[in-house]
Amino acid sequence: MLGLILPICSIFFSLLLFIIYFSKKRVNLLENKMYTIMIVCILIDSILTTLLQIFPLSGLTTFEIFLVEICNKIDFATVITFDTSLFMYIMLISYPKVKENYKKFFNYTLTINLILILIISFFDISIIENNGNYSIEGSAVTFTYLVCAFYISSALLASLFNMKKIDKRYIPIFIIIPMLGFVFFLFSINPYLTIISIIQTYVMYIMFFTIENPDLKLIEELNVAKDQAEKANNAKTDFLSNMSHEIRTPLNAIVGFSNGLLEDNNIPEESKEDIKNIITASDNLIELVNGILDISKIEANKLEIINTNYNFKKLFNDLLILTKARLGEKPLELKYYYDETIPEYLYGDVSRIKQIIINLLTNSVKYTKEGYIYFKVNAIKKENIIRLIISVEDTGIGIKQENIDKLFTKFERLGVEKNTTTEGTGLGLAITKKLVELMNGKIIVQSIYGKGSKFTVSIDQRISNQQEIENIKKETETKITHENIDITNKKILIVDDNNLNLKVAERLLKKYTQNIQTASSGQECLDKINNNEKFDLILLDDMMPKMSGTITLEKLKENENFKTPVVVLTANAISGMKEQYLSKGFDDYLSKPIEKGELIRVIKKFLS
Ligand code: ADP
Repeated sequence: MLGLILPICSIFFSLLLFIIYFSKKRVNLLENKMYTIMIVCILIDSILTTLLQIFPLSGLTTFEIFLVEICNKIDFATVITFDTSLFMYIMLISYPKVKENYKKFFNYTLTINLILILIISFFDISIIENNGNYSIEGSAVTFTYLVCAFYISSALLASLFNMKKIDKRYIPIFIIIPMLGFVFFLFSINPYLTIISIIQTYVMYIMFFTIENPDLKLIEELNVAKDQAEKANNAKTDFLSNMSHEIRTPLNAIVGFSNGLLEDNNIPEESKEDIKNIITASDNLIELVNGILDISKIEANKLEIINTNYNFKKLFNDLLILTKARLGEKPLELKYYYDETIPEYLYGDVSRIKQIIINLLTNSVKYTKEGYIYFKVNAIKKENIIRLIISVEDTGIGIKQENIDKLFTKFERLGVEKNTTTEGTGLGLAITKKLVELMNGKIIVQSIYGKGSKFTVSIDQRISNQQEIENIKKETETKITHENIDITNKKILIVDDNNLNLKVAERLLKKYTQNIQTASSGQECLDKINNNEKFDLILLDDMMPKMSGTITLEKLKENENFKTPVVVLTANAISGMKEQYLSKGFDDYLSKPIEKGELIRVIKKFLS
């Protein structure tokens, strides 16, 4: 009876596996194909083994004996196919070449398999009965076992040769070996056991629960896809970083020289107008580069909200001054309201809040010809949190109802045909919305086409505590006392491979000190320091041929007596760069084109 129980069990389990496996969504990998063949094999094998056990073996006609033999030989063929597939499985995961030449390899194995099956069909088989159970013997049996032993030991050898990269996909081969030992042991006790099919089913189950479960495979595939997407995204960020560098370097020269010319009294007034236009165009280009960088940072989840204590009232006033300047000659009234109950000092990302409000105010100025712009800040206070409700209303061109949804899509500019004269990239609002969301805030738009628009942003900020307020006050006091520092006796070294950039930086610094020296390579900088030339500050470009700024700094620091502050000067303004440079040992960071305010900050910090 035992002889029947085992095959019936294996029919049940292999059928169950068959149904579960084929009902799931699967990944189409070569290994999976092998596993699929193996599942089909064990099902056929279990059915045939069971049928043969049920068959009454005594009193058969010659034809019936022939049928039993045929069934047995088909069964052998499935066992060989099972082992061949297992062998192929191991080869596919072990050798990339097999995967590359899969078709060739598969055809060879298939041909060999067919030849083996053909050989079996010519071999003898004898059926021996004992108490209702039967066993089979003969050259066909021996041959099948030999073939299986060959495939399994080859797969084992392949696994052993690949011990270094062994992973859980090798589980089947490592469990089949002890299982075989177990089979031989059982056969030595009871040669009538039909145990092969249940062993195969067992192996298949282990494979299913460890490596071949389609759900696991899908997750693995998703992880691979995620990795690839992340790699592609990093490549994009690198590309943007390089692109921004390439664009910023010449822009640095354009803005720097134009500003210099503007201050030159020998330049005729009409030319100054042209210079102003050059500066405006360059500023727009810088804005575009910054916008693209911001969007890419946000999309790569690399933009961090950096909270500090800040003076909100000062921020409001700064924004008013800036907007008044932007209005220029436009016949526009700038109205404003500030809720006086808002505490002066708040804790949040002031530079991003400023960016958000500037975007809204700039748009209002851009898209309004006449009337007014109303910049309003209301607030709702709850314990130490204050909800700022910032709105910017205008009497401008307005936005069509059907276009409101498109507003926050990057590079989307509405009614471009109408405002061809208005500069813009279509990035501002996309960035604004993402920034607001990063701060867990909300932005809403109300607009009547032709009449005007109102953008409202609500953001929660923490109210600074007393200690924090005192700290800020102390900091501002020290800043004020250092306002008029004299650095005329300080010596500065600028290192940059680009001659134009050297001139721009020199021109900017000349206003503060005449003691400026330049070097056009890392080596030249090293030579100067090694010749005991003393400087009070070094501005060092990073991306230089032969020796980068980072390497130059490393070499400078090899000298223990070297104590001069080194500020990295770079057009690489991608997110996180500042932190990276600081961690490499630079004392500060200046991005190109150098902003006057930033330069003054650095001068004050190191030369006061
Ligand atoms: P940009 O202003 O650079 O084109 P934005 O993302 O800031 O890009 O704005 C997207 C579009 O939304 C603008 O092109 C404009 O058509 C519309 N828009 C934004 N603000 C206003 C406004 N205050 N009034 C009318 N239209 C606006």
